Amino acid sequence: MTQHRTTAEWQALSREHLLAPFSDYKQLGAKGARIVTRADGVYLWDSEGHKILDAMAGLWCVNVGYGRRELADAAHRQMLELPYYNLFFQTAHPPAIELANAIAEIAPEGMSHVFFTGSGSEANDTVLRLVRHYWAIKGQPSKKVIIGRINGYHGSTVAGASLGGMQAMHEQGDLPIPGIEHIAQPYWFGEGGALDPQAFGEWAANELEKKILEVGEENVAAFIAEPIQGAGGVIIPPESYWPRVRQILAKYAILFVVDEVICGFGRTGEWFGSQYYGLEPDLMPIAKGLTSGYIPMGGVIVRDEVAQTLAEGGEFYHGYTYSGHPVAAAVALENIRILREEKIVERVKQETAPYLQRRWQELADHPLVGEARGLGMLGALELVKDKQTRARFEGQGVGMRCREHCFGNGLIMRAVGDTMIVSPPLVITPAQIDDMLLLVRKCLDATAAEVLV
Ligand SMILES: *Cc1c(COP(=O)(O)O)cnc(C)c1O
Repeated sequence: MTQHRTTAEWQALSREHLLAPFSDYKQLGAKGARIVTRADGVYLWDSEGHKILDAMAGLWCVNVGYGRRELADAAHRQMLELPYYNLFFQTAHPPAIELANAIAEIAPEGMSHVFFTGSGSEANDTVLRLVRHYWAIKGQPSKKVIIGRINGYHGSTVAGASLGGMQAMHEQGDLPIPGIEHIAQPYWFGEGGALDPQAFGEWAANELEKKILEVGEENVAAFIAEPIQGAGGVIIPPESYWPRVRQILAKYAILFVVDEVICGFGRTGEWFGSQYYGLEPDLMPIAKGLTSGYIPMGGVIVRDEVAQTLAEGGEFYHGYTYSGHPVAAAVALENIRILREEKIVERVKQETAPYLQRRWQELADHPLVGEARGLGMLGALELVKDKQTRARFEGQGVGMRCREHCFGNGLIMRAVGDTMIVSPPLVITPAQIDDMLLLVRKCLDATAAEVLV
């Protein structure tokens, strides 16, 4: 397919017909999209034949790396056997059942039920409906409000974007919808001010209790949060944050939704971020690494007590045509088999993540870097004008400049404002991490040469 047109032809066709997600159409039209044509391992190739190290694993999802034939074979086999059937109205099929069982085996203790969806956003739509339905069954229908966090990300559907706390998204189309409240995020580098990280972490956690009391426990259904904010800029909470949140949640009858769409399936070196932080969620939305992005699929892993309550509530009038899609389920099953049999999560914990983090810290001495932080297979660099005062650049688009240098040098690193982030495939080797670090430093140098005078 890729040989039929030139890059300019792809770009022109794209401009004429394709409305791409999260894109400024005028800008994109003027510049032309980068056309990615194939991939293998941790590398992509574009239509000009450039090889690019994908330090973002697509969008945080290609955990087992590109080019795994077993996943294609699993899809092919399933398409021939049963390409589609649904789970509506009391039917089921082997791939969805086997997958729910496989997920229950790796999920935290006591979370052995799964509701399948087509994506992470849909998973959070399911969360919104499920938690309200749950409290209604319990005879407490006033418990409807869901507390999320500013700069959290839970997807791009109406419910997902409302639960998330992205201001730019809220401004387009009157979001959030009613019944959703947001509290401060535990982003010490950006918002910690004069507080030390631990004091700031406690302050941010206490905002949850303040909000619960303000809204009234009798009106709050759930608190939703990512273990580590991904799209918000790989924000790793201070160590004091999660323990304090857990103390607060223990005092109130409120469901805890831990959005595992990024952290799930090995990103932190544990199967789930909840296990890394010792959280005890009631619901865990999943997607991305569930299929390593080879095919769309999401879901919500549900605590047994919640599932038991749902069982008492009659029919749950909710579901998607593609909930538990057999081809997606077959791919997810094969993906989990690969992660388990090749001990990829264990290797991340014992070998690759410690190595990545050790090398990542070396970037802290770069003149442009105010903080180099990371955890598991996640990393962030705060680009600043002044390392000592954490003073930012103003209106220079330094993050986007750096990102351009990355593309130009064969590296994909994402920019969130002036925060550069990575989330490489979990199968990246130490030698490839070395290659990545060389490229990162080169791009930082090129950016610094432009903006630090
Ligand atoms: C990506 C993401 C989502 C949304 O998933 P989609 O599959 O893009 O709908 C939800 N939550 C988190 C934490 C995410 O990173």
